[in-house]
Amino acid sequence: MPKPVGTLLVITGSMFAGKSEELIRQVRRALYARKKVQVFKSALDNRWDSAAIATHNGVRFEAIPVSSSADLERLVEPDTEVIAIEEVQFFDEGVVALCDRWANEGRTVIVAGLDQDFRGQPFGFMPVLLALADEVIKLRAICARCGQLASKTQRLVDGRPASWDEPTILIGAAEKYEARCRRCHKVLNAPRNGHRRARRNTQTQATEPAEQQERLF
Ligand SMILES: [Zn+2]
Repeated sequence: MPKPVGTLLVITGSMFAGKSEELIRQVRRALYARKKVQVFKSALDNRWDSAAIATHNGVRFEAIPVSSSADLERLVEPDTEVIAIEEVQFFDEGVVALCDRWANEGRTVIVAGLDQDFRGQPFGFMPVLLALADEVIKLRAICARCGQLASKTQRLVDGRPASWDEPTILIGAAEKYEARCRRCHKVLNAPRNGHRRARRNTQTQATEPAEQQERLF
């Protein structure tokens, strides 16, 4: 039998779109096919606990928390056939070349991540990952306001839309998020040429580590 051709599958969309459920479905299929699978997630993702992928509907799946692409590279074993990564947008940019290389080696790489930040702008390196993908599954949520299909993630501070100038990734903050359609999605102080200014706000801002129970972007 010829050596398998690798593939890079990116599962994307807003929050509450079912990305984790789709990743888990893909991982389950690989396990049924008796593949050697390793599942990773960003150590920044502390939604429920540190050892499992937890989806919004309560499904859980064991995953190894890692904090950098260097750690990923170190932890993937030589005979692993399927590599799955949750919340890939939280990693450093090195994860892009790594995913591409693993696919070139003949492995199946399945990653899930947000394609847009709370401003509705492209999220970090995600556009590059989407371009390099062999397959993209883009999922939509349901708008929490009007019930139509939603592609945006609304950040709320004390129930009000967050401001454009806030950092893209917030850890330990008290913000809330919901899925919104284009019409209901709101960003305070958004500039007209928003796309160009968005690139200045891509760094992580962390508060106290003890407060990192809530994983937010
Ligand atoms: Zn709406």
